[in-house]
Amino acid sequence: MSTYVTANPTTGVTEREFEALTDDRVRAVAQGAAAGFRRWRDTPVQERADVLARTAELYEKRAEELSAVITTEMGKPKAEADGEVQLAADIYRWYAEHGPDLLETETLDPQGAEESIVQRRPVGPLVGVMPWNYPYYQVVRFAAPNLMVGNSIILKHAAICAASSQLMAEILHEAGIPEDVYVNVFASNDQVADLIADPAIQGVSLTGSEGAGAAVAKTAAENLKKSVLELGGSDPFILLDTEDMSRTATIAAKARLSNSGQACNSPKRFIVLDDLYDVFVEALVGQFESVTVGDPADSGTDMGPLSSISARDGVADQVDKAVEQGATLHTGGKKLDRDGAFYAPTVLTGITKEMDAYSEEIFGPVGMVYRVSSIDEAVELANDVGFGLSGSVWSTDLDKAQQVADRLDVGMAYVNEHGTTLPGLPFGGVKRSGYGRELGRWGMGEFVNTRLRRTS
Ligand code: NDP
Repeated sequence: MSTYVTANPTTGVTEREFEALTDDRVRAVAQGAAAGFRRWRDTPVQERADVLARTAELYEKRAEELSAVITTEMGKPKAEADGEVQLAADIYRWYAEHGPDLLETETLDPQGAEESIVQRRPVGPLVGVMPWNYPYYQVVRFAAPNLMVGNSIILKHAAICAASSQLMAEILHEAGIPEDVYVNVFASNDQVADLIADPAIQGVSLTGSEGAGAAVAKTAAENLKKSVLELGGSDPFILLDTEDMSRTATIAAKARLSNSGQACNSPKRFIVLDDLYDVFVEALVGQFESVTVGDPADSGTDMGPLSSISARDGVADQVDKAVEQGATLHTGGKKLDRDGAFYAPTVLTGITKEMDAYSEEIFGPVGMVYRVSSIDEAVELANDVGFGLSGSVWSTDLDKAQQVADRLDVGMAYVNEHGTTLPGLPFGGVKRSGYGRELGRWGMGEFVNTRLRRTS
């Protein structure tokens, strides 16, 4: 029997093994979720909202335990893990509070009929395929709106976060979600494909890499199922001017190094106007070098390891290649000489279009700084990648910054902030960063049957 094995990236030591789904159970899981769906869709909306509110309370009550699991499992520093648990609770609470209104029936102009209304109905059982970088948040932003709508969920989490995956299911069941309405599976990629293809399943949402997204979307398309994809990004951070370079560099470094740089919407490319470039590079390098890298369970640690040795080695290879191809290394560029998946905060400049790093996403603590001589050049560079997740523009002149932000080919454009995520704001990208939206009312609209009922 195959297993899911988790390892602690801080020590490299194997932690736990989990029994994987067997092939003969795949069909039963899909049918079980279909049976769960039929009851859940008929559960009154307010009852579903109450279960989500209880889930939020349980996240807060069990916060210490939840936080510790992901610190062990994927190396997230305690303060960041605490923040993620609270965000997950906030998302459940937001949908519990706003869900009933968002599901209200809409009355249309009857146009000759007795009545014409639009109902918002669930579509059925869904498959969620989620990544390890924010083990709770990534799942919750898919699960909360869809459980509110009345869909049932089969959740396949990243293999390296089996413990957090199991804990999330336990909490939902404790809150009152029936066992066949939210089903956690330790499935292989082939089993995920079989689940998506199963006639009972009505859609799939994936957050992860382009390769995983393409594979899942292909299976979904072949079976005429809807998919939502939230993939990678190489977000630009465009600096036009600043009154306080030290503060700007502090914010830039914090945003880039948060979660050891493993965020799809982290600012990966700093695009700086000529007159500020040298001082920004110096300030950013200073910030990167002042970061305390260490055990994520220690309160004094700013940055922990990467999520796994293989993730760390992948980042190291990308940086080595960039330097081989002619990029300038200002700091970092090396694995730390200790156990675990540690990599030094790294700053690169001199990246040109011919280098792989120009167009790739680097999913680790690596900042790339580009020098530009005009706003037009900054915008052109910002948009000259396959990704289009988010981007930010920084200036004391808000009108000017907003005009620049409006020229970014992204799903989320920020002025004087980067990557703010709140339960009520839409999250998602364009281009190779995926399609569809999560969170807010948009996240609740993806797997809804917008059903017309007309009576004459
Ligand atoms: P993956 O995309 O491989 O993993 C994300 C999820 O997809 C996991 O649950 C994984 O399962 C699953 N998966 C992978 N391939 C398939 C497939 N063919 N069919 C079905 N499910 C699949 O991410 P990695 O961990 O490999 O990270 C690689 C890169 O992905 C990163 O460097 C980054 O660029 C990007 N990424 C983006 C994230 C984001 O937030 N948008 C989050 C994480 C990664 P399993 O774990 O069992 O392989």
